[in-house]
Amino acid sequence: MALRRQTRGLEGSPGLDPRTGAVNVPIYLSSTFAQDGPGVHRGYEYSRTGNPTRAALEGLAAELEGGARGLAFASGMAAMSAVVSLLNQGDHVVVGDDVYGGTYRVLEKVFARFGIRVSYADTANPQAVKDHMRPETRMLIVESPTNPLMKVADLRALAEIAHEAEALLVVDNTFMTPYLQQPLALGADIVVHSATKYLSGHSDVVAGLVVTADPEVGERIHFLQNATGGILGPHDSWLLIRGIRTLGVRMEAHEHNARRIARWLTAQPWVTRVHYPGLPEHAGHELMARQARGFGGMLSFETDTPERAEGIVRRTRLFILAESLGGVESLISLPARMTHASIPAERRARLGITDRLVRVSVGIEDADDLIEDLAQAAAG
Ligand SMILES: *Cc1c(COP(=O)(O)O)cnc(C)c1O
Repeated sequence: MALRRQTRGLEGSPGLDPRTGAVNVPIYLSSTFAQDGPGVHRGYEYSRTGNPTRAALEGLAAELEGGARGLAFASGMAAMSAVVSLLNQGDHVVVGDDVYGGTYRVLEKVFARFGIRVSYADTANPQAVKDHMRPETRMLIVESPTNPLMKVADLRALAEIAHEAEALLVVDNTFMTPYLQQPLALGADIVVHSATKYLSGHSDVVAGLVVTADPEVGERIHFLQNATGGILGPHDSWLLIRGIRTLGVRMEAHEHNARRIARWLTAQPWVTRVHYPGLPEHAGHELMARQARGFGGMLSFETDTPERAEGIVRRTRLFILAESLGGVESLISLPARMTHASIPAERRARLGITDRLVRVSVGIEDADDLIEDLAQAAAG
């Protein structure tokens, strides 16, 4: 029976506990597992290598993304670092020019020291990506939509460009989740998640996931996971499984509210631009309608003055002024002063991340309350 996507998060591989019928997978707090004879074990030997609670989550992640292998890490950055560790000294990576700051930092400050070379391209423009490919390019890392300007990448076109060059296409699917977008079905080789965000959904766990299309690539990443050790613990694995069980209803609610707020913002005189791919006038709207099942709960907008932008984020009462995203509560931020502050001002300006730009992670509160909150905050 082919399950529909709302059901898959509920019926995913954890299933019933075969021994007791418990409807939730137990939290296996055991670092080691007895062996029946030297080297003879029942699937688990040591919890860095594998833990039954983590394995349930990893199976669920693979199922949701339609991949061969799922792997759970202590954070999104641990997951991304394991993926980049597939590369060898001298290999070249093409990365989106407005990629998540932590990904930029680990490539520039850590992997560059080991001889991994990086170029940055506008991933919304396949030709620009193609122009950056070199004979030694082995990986292309993209997000779609991007943060905070919500630019949409043509994942099918990028998969073709990567594969022509014998490189792997890695998609950070944090903003969309597998409920709204399945990059592996569009030709990507590896999906990475900061599961800290929508997959957990309650701002209560830091976690990362990797899902691979190819079991052999999955095995190589499992080797790296075990060798470098950045695994997700059993408690956090269990929390993440619990979060994923409501992923579908949460994503529907996030998107419903984001659409309402985006449309309302476009009619406000103090708003000069709204970046939400769900708006028909957004440059990536049609592409996203083809490659995803929805537009998600993230948006950003530009105000008439920097003072207005700062006033809004200081005065909202429901929207919490904080970094991060994807939780049930609405968050608001000024990227130029917060998440993107470490990017040099000149590069920020080139990307369009001005001090008039406000980013919102739309929660699942009543949309009318959220709109009233923004209106009072903007009025000052
Ligand atoms: C938060 C985030 C990350 C990093 O994940 P952590 O769980 O914080 O390590 C990576 N990519 C995107 C798009 C993110 O939003």
